[in-house]
Amino acid sequence: MKFFQNIYRWDNDTKISISIVLIGFIMTLFISFVDLFTLYPQFNFSWIYLFYIVLWFLSFVCYYKCVTTSTEVPENIKMDISTYPACSKCGLGKPERAHHCSKCNSCILEMDHHCNYIGNCVGFANKKYFLLLLFYVTLMILFILLVNTPLAIYAFFYPLRNPFYHCVFRLFDLIHCILSVYGFTLIAPTAHVVVKGLFCNYTTIEFIVKGDMGWVSSSESRKKNKYDLGTLRNIQQIFGIGLLQALLPIPSNTTCNGINFETNGEYNEALENQYNEYYEDY
Ligand SMILES: [Zn+2]
Ligand SMILES: [Zn+2]
Repeated sequence: MKFFQNIYRWDNDTKISISIVLIGFIMTLFISFVDLFTLYPQFNFSWIYLFYIVLWFLSFVCYYKCVTTSTEVPENIKMDISTYPACSKCGLGKPERAHHCSKCNSCILEMDHHCNYIGNCVGFANKKYFLLLLFYVTLMILFILLVNTPLAIYAFFYPLRNPFYHCVFRLFDLIHCILSVYGFTLIAPTAHVVVKGLFCNYTTIEFIVKGDMGWVSSSESRKKNKYDLGTLRNIQQIFGIGLLQALLPIPSNTTCNGINFETNGEYNEALENQYNEYYEDY
């Protein structure tokens, strides 16, 4: 199975992190089904959990794609060291914005960062799935906070007739809330940088080297970052054009191939050498 074919290169930290995520996925699905069928009959809105299950399904497909999509530099580029400079670690061709990842033991196309929770790098090939994963998981967390928390408070004052089920269901709700808050603490620090990077077209590595460039593209950010083409075009470079294909975990018809990049005319070339000194492989 594709999901497990990379398992040989996962270290113990990665195996633990991936297990935590999978247990979280299984538990949230189980609890949402329990809620779907056992919510207080007087409310008559248990159908709302169908919406949650759709979010769950989209998140899981995004997660699967994040784990299984190869983010490495394609073989033909790796072999072409006459066109692309050779990587100091693996000696193979490395296009601009690619970096060597010591955990993946390969150069990664438009490398963003290595993520233990997916056992893979976030790079050009899976960045859309990673961003969608963050988006759908955030919606799931908001759902739990807005729907389950008021229900848990209600249940405190108006318990079910059967005390055993009451305790079990409220325990599930409590676990759901804890998982949501834990999920939020996991994704918030990463999401903050990756979402800014989406709007201003930079990777987490470039963020570390060049510093914060704000939330949206501006003439200031374009001076610092030659890849910044304006907020909308930066988004289209990852999500393609069209809302439906942008929201689904399917490949986008983006014009960028992750190897050659369009640049803006406002970039201040003098900054390039200064940045080059700081670039290192990860
Ligand atoms: Zn390399
Ligand atoms: Zn990696």
